[in-house]
Amino acid sequence: MKIEHPACARCPYTSDERLCSTPLGKGLPSCPTPDTFLLEKAQIEFENQSIREFARQASIQEGEGYRNKSPRNTCPEPCKPRLLEIVEFAGKMSFEKLGLAFCTGLSREAKIVEGFLSEKGFEVVSVICKAGRILKEDIGVKDSEKIIPGTDESMCNPVFQAMVLNKAETEFNIMMGLCVGHDSLFLKYSDALCTVLAAKDRMSAHNPLAAVYTLESYYRYLKED
Ligand code: SF4
Repeated sequence: MKIEHPACARCPYTSDERLCSTPLGKGLPSCPTPDTFLLEKAQIEFENQSIREFARQASIQEGEGYRNKSPRNTCPEPCKPRLLEIVEFAGKMSFEKLGLAFCTGLSREAKIVEGFLSEKGFEVVSVICKAGRILKEDIGVKDSEKIIPGTDESMCNPVFQAMVLNKAETEFNIMMGLCVGHDSLFLKYSDALCTVLAAKDRMSAHNPLAAVYTLESYYRYLKED
């Protein structure tokens, strides 16, 4: 198969052999690593002090996600859940006011997370996906396309969610269980940079990789037309 666009997901080399890992490494013909023009353009963004600091702290957080680190140990142990990483990263960035944009289906979990973050000393502004109570008909959804036809259903309103948090001037927004597509709009309209605590997956208790791990077994039917 001829691959013209970057296709890192198809790269046949081990992590150690890859051009993106080692100077004399190998890559696909379409490897993006030698694209120095684009790379320089990307690197210019890191001259912005706030982007540079965000990236620096994110990398430090990444490194702190492991213990038993040494040059001789090629298999350090992961040691932190994402919930703690978010708290630590927000602390590193000196953020005080956090946004929590959550799905109504995770209301119980949002209450727990809000309490946890508050106990850690953050001011938390939280907003549910249904806030604003706009009916789905307003955006052209037919009755038959609702979750329960024949009822009034409020639309998820990620644009409003983002605007509520923007108005509160949150410094960092945490997304929790927003639907596919709703999450995209939230990211588009949020003023603050965002992170995802949980990605919505109704079938797997919000573990989307469950379908990936079992794509050759229980979920193989997904591959059928
Ligand atoms: S070596 Fe190139 S093609 Fe392979 S994973 Fe790294 S960047 Fe992608």
